[in-house]
Amino acid sequence: MTTRITITRPDDWHLHVRDGAMLKASLPFTARVFGRAILMPNLVPPVLTAADGAAYRQRAMAVLPTDTKFTPLITCYLTDDTDPDDVERGFREGIFTAVKLYPANATTNSAAGVADYAKIERVLARMEKIGMLLLIHCEEVDPTVDVFDREAVFIDRRLIPMAKKFPGLKIVFEHISSKIGIDYVRSAAPQIGASVTPYHMQLNRTDWLGWGNRPYMYCMPVIKTEQDRIAIRQAATSGEACFFLGTDSAPHPVARKLGVIGSAGLFNSPVCMETYAQIFDEDDKLENLEKFASLNGPKHYGLPPNSDTITLEKTSWTAPEEVLFDGPEERALIYRGGEKIPWKVVSA
Ligand SMILES: [Zn+2]
Repeated sequence: MTTRITITRPDDWHLHVRDGAMLKASLPFTARVFGRAILMPNLVPPVLTAADGAAYRQRAMAVLPTDTKFTPLITCYLTDDTDPDDVERGFREGIFTAVKLYPANATTNSAAGVADYAKIERVLARMEKIGMLLLIHCEEVDPTVDVFDREAVFIDRRLIPMAKKFPGLKIVFEHISSKIGIDYVRSAAPQIGASVTPYHMQLNRTDWLGWGNRPYMYCMPVIKTEQDRIAIRQAATSGEACFFLGTDSAPHPVARKLGVIGSAGLFNSPVCMETYAQIFDEDDKLENLEKFASLNGPKHYGLPPNSDTITLEKTSWTAPEEVLFDGPEERALIYRGGEKIPWKVVSA
């Protein structure tokens, strides 16, 4: 039985750390373990231009110790009006790593997202030309589409035509949540790869809704069926090159999370690496953890893996329940808070 594992330092290819006090409280959890993280641009206001991106990177670095080895990777929030020249400038100057596509109103702070797909084609053409990645929240927001089918319909209606029209455009299918998505990504690799959250591998919709509504299992895309969960879990733990780590950790103030219209997103960065290790261990696939967490992502992004390592041990500990981010009044509850977790990052 493996009780200790050392792997190349992992990266988080999908992370929300917000801004201000919440950025200060949440980013250190990620910087402790990961070499790099893709910071999502859905701030208020969003990261729309290269200038916004440079400023956000500075705000992120300012909450970390000056000797940190962590690198935040900044993304551009795609809108119908995004200027291809500004995107290219941001990419060439090393400010932007990628562009993020949110269908308008698909999730938290996405009202300014893409509404008219014809309008973004000149940006996509430019990205294809310069070798810049497109990260997609793959959900169709047409109100006639059932919330559980949004991912499947988006694939047919948007993603397949887009991947065909721009065959040189590298894409990340973010937070994959369905068996249909898994099958599609496998067929479309290596042009398309997918990030996988810990909770889409752990939860099904009966966990979420079957024993009382559990707002702390509410995210977008929503948790789906047991068959979907198993397909996602098998894909991720297989070590296949097109699946890699992306926590989608997303803190919310507790009042907004538990409101009458609750916010989507699970704050999991304080327990994420330990949770991934637990999942791989439960499925007897620890030998593939390094590929999933540390190698497949950089390969898809065309970046080198990190050069140092982290070590995890099978040692039980209790996850913290919440993080305070603006005095005792403002707090965010942590995914699996208060639970015993069997793996722990012991050196990073
Ligand atoms: Zn996200």
